[in-house]
Amino acid sequence: MNAMLDATPTTGPIALLREDLRDFAGYRSARSEKLQGHIWLNANESPWANPADRDGALRRYPDPQPQQLREALAALYGCVPEQLLAGRGSDEGIDLLVRAFCRPGGDAIVVSTPTFGMYAVSARLHGTRVIDVPLREADGEWICDLSAIGDAAIAQSARIVFLCSPGNPTGALLPLKDIAALAGRLERRALVVVDEAYIEYAGAESAISLIGVQRNIVVLRTLSKAHALAAVRIGSVIGDAELIEALRRCQAPYPLPVACVAQALAALDGNAATTTRDRISAVQAEREGLQRRLASVRGVRRVYPSRANFVLVRFDDAQDAFERLLSVGVVVRDMRAAQGLGDALRISLGTPAQNAAVIGALEGVRA
Ligand SMILES: *Cc1c(COP(=O)(O)O)cnc(C)c1O
Repeated sequence: MNAMLDATPTTGPIALLREDLRDFAGYRSARSEKLQGHIWLNANESPWANPADRDGALRRYPDPQPQQLREALAALYGCVPEQLLAGRGSDEGIDLLVRAFCRPGGDAIVVSTPTFGMYAVSARLHGTRVIDVPLREADGEWICDLSAIGDAAIAQSARIVFLCSPGNPTGALLPLKDIAALAGRLERRALVVVDEAYIEYAGAESAISLIGVQRNIVVLRTLSKAHALAAVRIGSVIGDAELIEALRRCQAPYPLPVACVAQALAALDGNAATTTRDRISAVQAEREGLQRRLASVRGVRRVYPSRANFVLVRFDDAQDAFERLLSVGVVVRDMRAAQGLGDALRISLGTPAQNAAVIGALEGVRA
């Protein structure tokens, strides 16, 4: 049995776990038993490889948390492997956190719209209430009112606050000291989850550095954006080791396909990692240029400063801009359905040539 289950009640964030899951051991897969042997007949796997599986690597169920991957990700993010859970993208991390810390059909999370939609989707699927403390705008910048968020979380007993930094779709970065202060205020009350899907582009320190100080901070990282592996579906939840172990017990039995793990390890190694860093720099350089050029396009109302690999732009006529881009084959994200963004499009940074195509198409906007 897990030693943790016998331990005296902890003061760590694990105390926020759903009470009915405190002694939940999860599914005991064939892989979770530490047995020695050379004839493995305990998992109903085929004794033969599929003819299409040339090197016979796929016959058996995979390791739920391959140590090599966990170590590589921990080294990348600057934590210890025990503080990291790898899963099917950050999306699985969001879902696991909601399910493990909010009671089904009850409790609440706090978000600040406009923000990434998956926090509310996971909460809704779980019957958990979504409290919105919307971002405010002042002098062309987005303000996330962390003190109002703290008030709302306390007043309504929310279990999780989801922060996105840099924000999607705003591109705005939250100061670490403000995140730490909010987490301090919500200690023993709620988790503060910081989604850092775009932090590589921000050139800023990660909230992972706060985990040792504020144990109720949880950070989400992903290989989907800066590492160019969206199809591999690998994201990480990083936080207090006890909390990570509890999440692991709630996770699906074999979340990481062998081929995806191999691809991730190759992508984090040597030359590939160097190229990733160069491309992050290239995006940062292009971002400056795109923001500047967009700001001088006629019909552009506002270009928000971005620390991510996209730019949020308001137009006099967003429909016209969207169609103009589409007419030259450029597809951007239409944000007009989002509250307060009825005139906005979100444009991802592409290659220099693709960014030039965006400007070229927009320069004709209602001249
Ligand atoms: C793209 C994105 C993610 C990534 O999710 P994955 O499941 O890891 O692909 C997470 N959070 C935000 C805010 C995003 O924009």
